[in-house]
Amino acid sequence: MMNLSTMIAYGYRHCTPPIKQLLNYTTFLHLHLHHHHHHHHLQGRPLSFNSLNLPNLNLLLTGNCLFFRMQRFWIGNGINKNKQMVEHLQRYGVISSMKVAEVMETIDRALFVPDGASAYADSPMAIGYNATISAPHMHATCLQLLEQNLQPGMHALDVGSGTGYLTACFAIMVGPQGRAVGVEHIPELVASSIKNIEKSAAAPLLKEGSLSVHAGDGRQGWPECAPYDAIHVGAAAPEIPQALLDQLKPGGRMVIPVGNMFQDLKVVDKNMDGSISIRSETSVRYVPLTSRDAQLRGY
Ligand code: SAH
Repeated sequence: MMNLSTMIAYGYRHCTPPIKQLLNYTTFLHLHLHHHHHHHHLQGRPLSFNSLNLPNLNLLLTGNCLFFRMQRFWIGNGINKNKQMVEHLQRYGVISSMKVAEVMETIDRALFVPDGASAYADSPMAIGYNATISAPHMHATCLQLLEQNLQPGMHALDVGSGTGYLTACFAIMVGPQGRAVGVEHIPELVASSIKNIEKSAAAPLLKEGSLSVHAGDGRQGWPECAPYDAIHVGAAAPEIPQALLDQLKPGGRMVIPVGNMFQDLKVVDKNMDGSISIRSETSVRYVPLTSRDAQLRGY
């Protein structure tokens, strides 16, 4: 992280932006460098300045400087803020897959966040009932980890579907011949997620029935549409629920945060012989996968 402080000091000295712009800029950079740090660390590569794919520092010195571009991102220019959010995730290396960029452009995040919330900011947001919608970079990360298991015709399960955002993305990816199922244990969230999806590009899939969201305890999975090529769990489990392992197809992949205070995003692959391989992708912070009562009590 030495490089980061050097760079910000450098940018500050040479560009002397108003302090508010600088703060926005550094917050954004911190979020993304943090993410990159994990990413590169896990791949066993040193965190080098070039590997971060940051914009050329010379840009800071020109009229069309990075700060103005960042400001447009944060305040928005009213044309297509969702697309800008995706482009920024691409520029900072969070999204490398074209398919994932496409689906995140197709499903407008603003339709899934509470009214008035800053839909395109890269942070989780409260959605009521002690739940949150995950940050865009976490949605992107999970979509990329599951991409090979979200091909047209495949079956996907989204446990703790919350706002329905990721379930809608899954449905677009597996298409009308596939199956995307959300399970959420707060009935009010199920109802509002269905309203959100109805406003989105995934509405026809909901109507045709290749996309559905159900009220239930997601720790039991959703046996009716099993086995699944892809299972995503949007809440942290103390351990991997057996029912979810059982409902994973051989060749299937589950992405699930595991832990209590400290959680790892686990990538669970079921091999063709039925054996299970597990690796940790990165450390994360999710709300717990728990009972409805515990959640409504505030855990
Ligand atoms: N992917 C969702 C994440 C929502 S937060 C989104 O980005 O919108 C996690 C969700 O898991 C919450 O909505 C919470 O209500 C739900 N949840 C927690 N435990 C659950 C359980 N046992 N069964 C089903 N849903 C659960």
